[in-house]
Amino acid sequence: ATPMSIMVGTGRGAQAGVLIRDAEALERFAKVDTLIVDKTGTLTEGKPSLTDVIANGISEDDLKSYAAALERGSEHPLAEAILSGTQDAPKREATGFEAITGKGVVAMIEGARIALGNSALMLELGAEPGALTEALQNLQSEGKTAMYLAKDGVVVGILAVADRIKATTPDAIQALHREGLRIVMATGDSTRTAEAVAKQLGIDEVHAEVSPEGKAALVEVLRKSGARVAMAGDGVNDAPALASADVGIAMGTGADVAVESAGLTLVKGDLTGILRARRLAEAVMRNIR
Ligand code: ADP
Ligand code: MG
Repeated sequence: ATPMSIMVGTGRGAQAGVLIRDAEALERFAKVDTLIVDKTGTLTEGKPSLTDVIANGISEDDLKSYAAALERGSEHPLAEAILSGTQDAPKREATGFEAITGKGVVAMIEGARIALGNSALMLELGAEPGALTEALQNLQSEGKTAMYLAKDGVVVGILAVADRIKATTPDAIQALHREGLRIVMATGDSTRTAEAVAKQLGIDEVHAEVSPEGKAALVEVLRKSGARVAMAGDGVNDAPALASADVGIAMGTGADVAVESAGLTLVKGDLTGILRARRLAEAVMRNIR
């Protein structure tokens, strides 16, 4: 290995918005055959917006108002979408806010216990979606993220948000396939939603309803099966999975923790950057040999 070509490679990488930790990371990345990506923010814009509101037994305004009051306490990307989509609804105060990781949010509003989240959250609260189940599933089949809202243990509506696929994603996936990479999606979102998005994009394998620890476990399983795995992710939650991979790729505005556990850091968080990094890694390795 000539240190000179690696230096040149590293320099060219930086110009292309790819920060490379060391020569080993670049070398390992040239040999990777499996790329795990997050759905939200990597394949999609990461800026979801509210698309559907279905009220059942309460008014649409009340449904929006409850959802907004809950999400004012949340830092989840879904919260932003719901808040900006419900600005016209009456304002209510929530107290005793609680975020339930991977499931949703719960709080008290005007003496009622209000919950907003996925099927797992409803199950935990003993709230039966009944006739609304089909509506939720239909929204998920369109690739939307749909949430139930329950009031005192009764499901009274659905809110759905959609996140646009990045314009660059489809071409980048095709090109990564031509590079010989298998592309695996890992997401906390529902199986139906994840599969709808994956189908549109020709993703090879889908793992949905995955927790952050689940992502790290998935990396381990794939590596044990003989795959050479790169894991792309953002945020603090993904740090364990990035650290477990042969190459961790911190995407875009990633948290400092994520960057520390990454071999590659992409200034702009989309798949085009990963493609560029892969081609660079191969070019550098060719010069070395
Ligand atoms: P991801 O990071 O992939 O979006 P999460 O594990 O954060 O996945 O969330 C999984 C699911 O839990 C979401 O798709 C949603 O249904 C529910 N959920 C989590 N946080 C919230 C929230 N603040 N409001 C509503 N639903 C939520
Ligand atoms: Mg998350």
